[in-house]
Amino acid sequence: MATETLVETFKNLIDGQWVESASGETFASTNPANAAEIVGRFQASAEEDVNRAIEAAQRAFPAWRETAPSKRADILYKAADWLEAGLERFAEELTREEGKTLAASRMEVKRSAQTLRYYASEGMNVAGETLPSDDPETFVYTRREPLGVVTVITPWNFPLSIPARKIAPALVTGNTVVFKPASDTPLIACRLVQALHGAGMPAGVINFVTGSASKTGTPLVTHPAVKAVTFTGSTGAGEKINRSVRLSTRVQLELGGKNPLIVMDDADVEQAAELAVKGGFELTGQACTGTSRVIVMDSVHDRFVEALVARTRALIIGSGLRKGVDVGPLANESQLRNVLDYVDIGKSEGAELAFGGERLTEGEHAAGYYVRPAIFTGVTPNMRIAQEEIFGPVISVIRAGTFQEAMAIANDVEYGLSAAICTADMNAARRFIAGIESGVVKVNRPTTGNAVNAPFGGVKMSSTATYRESGRGALDFYTQIKTVYHGMQG
Ligand code: NAP
Repeated sequence: MATETLVETFKNLIDGQWVESASGETFASTNPANAAEIVGRFQASAEEDVNRAIEAAQRAFPAWRETAPSKRADILYKAADWLEAGLERFAEELTREEGKTLAASRMEVKRSAQTLRYYASEGMNVAGETLPSDDPETFVYTRREPLGVVTVITPWNFPLSIPARKIAPALVTGNTVVFKPASDTPLIACRLVQALHGAGMPAGVINFVTGSASKTGTPLVTHPAVKAVTFTGSTGAGEKINRSVRLSTRVQLELGGKNPLIVMDDADVEQAAELAVKGGFELTGQACTGTSRVIVMDSVHDRFVEALVARTRALIIGSGLRKGVDVGPLANESQLRNVLDYVDIGKSEGAELAFGGERLTEGEHAAGYYVRPAIFTGVTPNMRIAQEEIFGPVISVIRAGTFQEAMAIANDVEYGLSAAICTADMNAARRFIAGIESGVVKVNRPTTGNAVNAPFGGVKMSSTATYRESGRGALDFYTQIKTVYHGMQG
């Protein structure tokens, strides 16, 4: 039974005011390490609330677009300072709500503050260009202008850093924002909004609406005032959004992955196993860039599997709040069901479950969504566990005889987000970099992890084939080019 004492109810932020949903209904966000614990109550918003938020953002846009870039940047700097000052508290809240380890949460809070500062600085450099003109009386140049109202829809797995890397470039370039976080992690999302609001964002520039996708999704995506939708989440939801947006609405979709790690004949097998564990099982396998396929050369296969199993066996599984824990719970019950289903699918397809895959229900694990990280061997490339995104701690080990065969297997999926190779062979690494169908490529590094200042995104079904997120390139999505021919009179 959930305890209701001391549970705070959080509100939507619309037009600079913290308000209840029109229906007055709320929903609970719970702790995946202890499903009975409610971490907060949030507004169960619907179309009316979303429309109010979009209209507020629309009204705030003309003044915000004219606000000095240095003033916009100052607000982001202040918000970053506030987040960092509360790092320990926010990291704990993030872990309580999402499940990842405290170390991972601390890193996420820190990184989100860095992101706000990075875009505060980059926003001062958003520039058009002057062009040589055939007519000496005409000055030809371009301006980069904001789009208007941007809706930001985000997943629960990086519930602070993904919103930060969308909202900061949107705001610094003069757009106004309506932000709907994942329903599993509204608390930490609310902290980001509190940071921006408290730092002095004018009314209506940042709006925050919580609630289920089924009740809020359609207006967020189809309202005529929405000029851009930036979404990170599953490929299925992304495809649906892509089909519903208006012609005049720009869309950026960051979606699923089925990321491979190739282990070559000359690989340091211990390092390869470490990279696989880091990429596949850290964050409980719930990273879009997580390693889910390891393609191993025959000559090192057995030694690699032995090292991988040994390292996985040593992982400590428990509440992310507990010191020393390596792997926290899955984020919610449907994630747990999904992972256990895929373990059954792998077994029924004839793969060998070399380690793990069972639900943990004893002692501290009884109250949460815990599963032991799973390693399948004997996986063939066409099995479902080798093709479909599982989004949990399940690694499929696939054998390959040659580099060409490994590359063909690596590319033979519908996704193309991140890919890695473990080798000391410069030629193999270069052929891998050139031939892999993936937006992010790593050599002797895990498939997970990306730098705040580097572009991020995938190919194939992992992203829209338009704009990159993160880094300087992200600013392109939030601005449009106006071309000016400025002549003289007389
Ligand atoms: P999800 O179910 O697609 O939900 C993502 C967000 O979209 C949530 O806020 C959700 O709201 C909302 N949503 C769902 N359907 C919608 C619709 N039709 N219209 C508008 N909004 C909608 O994904 P998830 O389970 O939270 O996240 C896991 C997925 O995200 C994985 O596939 C993972 O690979 C992907 N991901 C990709 C990246 C990347 O950068 N490529 C990064 C992280 C995660 P509710 O929470 O209310 O349902």
